[in-house]
Amino acid sequence: MKKFLVATTCICFFFLGCKSKKYTSSISEKNDASVDYFADNGFGNAVALVQHPAGVYHNGITYVAYQGPLEDPYVASYNHETKEWKGPFKAGVSVMGKDPNRKKRIDNHGKPALLIDDADYIHIAFGGHGGTPADGDNPLGNHHYGKNLHAVSKRPLDISAWETLDNISLFGTYSQFIKMDNGDIYLFYRHGAHRSDWVYQKSTDNGVTFGSPVSFLKHKRRTDIEAEDSWYPWVSKGNGDDVIVAFDYHICRDNRNTQDARGHIPERHNVYYMVFDTKEGQWKNVKNEPLEMPLTKEMADEKTLVKKIPSDWTFQGVTDVDSKGNPQVCMLVGPDIGARRSGPKRLQHFRWDGQQWLKSDTTNLPKGNGDIEVKSATEVSIYLESETSDDVGEISRWDSFDGGDTFKKAQIFLSRKNSGFVISSLIDNPHPDARIIVAEKKEGTDFRKMYLLGDNGPIKRSKKEAQALNN
Ligand code: ZN
Repeated sequence: MKKFLVATTCICFFFLGCKSKKYTSSISEKNDASVDYFADNGFGNAVALVQHPAGVYHNGITYVAYQGPLEDPYVASYNHETKEWKGPFKAGVSVMGKDPNRKKRIDNHGKPALLIDDADYIHIAFGGHGGTPADGDNPLGNHHYGKNLHAVSKRPLDISAWETLDNISLFGTYSQFIKMDNGDIYLFYRHGAHRSDWVYQKSTDNGVTFGSPVSFLKHKRRTDIEAEDSWYPWVSKGNGDDVIVAFDYHICRDNRNTQDARGHIPERHNVYYMVFDTKEGQWKNVKNEPLEMPLTKEMADEKTLVKKIPSDWTFQGVTDVDSKGNPQVCMLVGPDIGARRSGPKRLQHFRWDGQQWLKSDTTNLPKGNGDIEVKSATEVSIYLESETSDDVGEISRWDSFDGGDTFKKAQIFLSRKNSGFVISSLIDNPHPDARIIVAEKKEGTDFRKMYLLGDNGPIKRSKKEAQALNN
């Protein structure tokens, strides 16, 4: 309380002493050059939609996690009341990112997901990409690299010291954390490389122990062609005890696609949606029909299909529900055969009206990746990363007031010439000033400036503090 009073006094004094806004900014620039990024040590694809949440707002503070130097996880925090930044602190050591001879220079799969438990300890899961044969048999899939690890803050709400625990499967990758209202923690992830089941591990004791992995999406040999069924879900909290899942299908071919000389290709199709009622332990489709788990490709096609997309390729679904539990789903869709890097795809938007899936017209959305926030059946926002034709990277919000039939650009959060951005999923329970974490990609370096963006643009920080690579 005392600290709060002091801070309030300072702010009042500050405003009273200022004659104009212009005066304020020139003073602040002179005394403390401030920048609009909070750290300069993001590394590679420092954040992504899939490993999430990368940020959580809790009791006045936003906590953020991202991939830093040597692919290790870093955590920083921002106090919205005192305007004080802390960190970034290294929260663990990844097995990946340390071998200069590795063919793929930056693996990027082990980015941290972050969660705060009901006892206020902060958790991250990071560093995994399927484990290696040296780690032993993977009972639910195949191997690739890394070790999925779980680290916890040593003290409640204190990001400065961390302990890595040995209580989750090291074969995991693409970690996705969810805390339910009763405090139960679910860690969702793929249990290995492409040819692996997707599973969850559940903790009912604030992450001290986790139950064994439970499969919910099944990898399976195909009998018609030389390939395996593989999946990419994005998992989030729905209403009440529900967990909601948007996913697409990866056809993991054995042999080179004849149209593509580079070998294995990340060919993905279709849009699916399903729900996990965690109270009853029952998975179901959008019509409330029960699903037998783990879900096979055949059952997914029969019971959970939002949209069949057989020719175009898909990437990175996201989903949210309205107060009635009716879902909306976004999926990146675009032509990609033999042209993996042909350019970004455009988001397609689907909504369930209680009877059927309706596809929106999103042709006016710029191409790029985004997350969705459903306020009601008709009111929906998309937070989007895109690049304009003159090489300007932009993070913007697009609003619809007719359930996605039309989207209009509502706000630009950040815009930079000669830059591209990668974005996190929306921050959990966000403060309006801090909705999304963004890494700025610039040519010629693997290091990224990290931004925390909200309704007032980027949250600023003193340049000295933000220079994490120097500190
Ligand atoms: Zn594959």
